[in-house]
Amino acid sequence: MFQANMVAHLWDLVDEGLESALDLLQGRIGLTGLCTPVTSGALEHLRYAGGVSPRIFRTRGGVFFQPDKTLYENTRCKPLLCEWLKTRNWLDKLSEQCRARGFGLRAVIECTNIGRIAAHDPHFARKNVFGDVSLSRICPANADVAEFIRSLAVDVCSNYAIEAVELVGLDAMPSMIDDPYHTLGLGGWQLLALCFCESCRQSAVAAGVDVESAARSATVRLETVFSTGQPIEQPLVSLVADDPPLAAFIAWYRDRITGLLHGVRDSCGGRVVSHTRAMRSEDELAAGPGYIRGVHAVVCDYVGWEIAPLERLIERMRDVLDTQQVLEVQLLAHSPAADDDQALVRNLTRMAELGITSANLDHYGCLPRARLDTVKQAIRFARRMSR
Ligand SMILES: [Zn+2]
Repeated sequence: MFQANMVAHLWDLVDEGLESALDLLQGRIGLTGLCTPVTSGALEHLRYAGGVSPRIFRTRGGVFFQPDKTLYENTRCKPLLCEWLKTRNWLDKLSEQCRARGFGLRAVIECTNIGRIAAHDPHFARKNVFGDVSLSRICPANADVAEFIRSLAVDVCSNYAIEAVELVGLDAMPSMIDDPYHTLGLGGWQLLALCFCESCRQSAVAAGVDVESAARSATVRLETVFSTGQPIEQPLVSLVADDPPLAAFIAWYRDRITGLLHGVRDSCGGRVVSHTRAMRSEDELAAGPGYIRGVHAVVCDYVGWEIAPLERLIERMRDVLDTQQVLEVQLLAHSPAADDDQALVRNLTRMAELGITSANLDHYGCLPRARLDTVKQAIRFARRMSR
């Protein structure tokens, strides 16, 4: 049967009442499960459910369950709890209820944007080629951070009834800053996202990479963009074809992330799903998608409404996935505009037609309740198509 999971934050389910929220999502809407974030960065969400308080949920982020401290002994990067949680452990209650009613539960681990760790301990933070240290992003190529991410996955898989862990933020180098005016171009943005933290520098040097030359090349290219205003549109992977040090540094980073994914898969005992932000990673794919090797499934996380770019990406992903790997999608559940209520129905049905068998819908807390009828219809149509 076509799987449809709703992305839902713990606090939205808890404040509405776990049981009634699950009755609604499983019974009335026909979803097969939930994707619940267990870590995140700072968030501010307007919530639509009747009577919830606060109306805007704010958190500085962190870990959303009580960690099993014994699992984090081998890393200096320690879990920081989300202030909302206090001494409670709602993941435990949610996991118990989902298990009892046969409703799937996936734990979503945001791997780089985890609340306050970077600000708390800059050792683990990402650092760009100019030496700017991120206040929010940690570096998954850092051995302590990698061990921390692995421990999070082991923790949720061994202590809760979790169907799968979804890893977010490992598919591309996470930038510490957005490029809202697109002045850098894709390649420029990717260059600025490269991490030159001490950990990356030392490990890459130890692996034989000429990090100084790579950093010099990235600096010169970016300085040229800043002075000329000419964006680098060419994606990084093709940009560095004639730049061996930079190419070697990027290949080293990709290998590091691949190693992390393998470590998670081999130790957590659960199903491992890696997210890929649809638009950006299309270019990464051209260079060989090391970061999706070894995971059980890949989710194309799409934040648009036009279906053509997603169709193209799905086609390309199919070429690079193993036959054992499952391709999934994540779509926005809300409506693109008041006059196009049916976009989700069309897009989800089209996904089923293309052979996709599992979709995540993002996200429950910000959905007007009337919208749930459209979600229900979209799932019904997709199921009919996938039969
Ligand atoms: Zn780094």
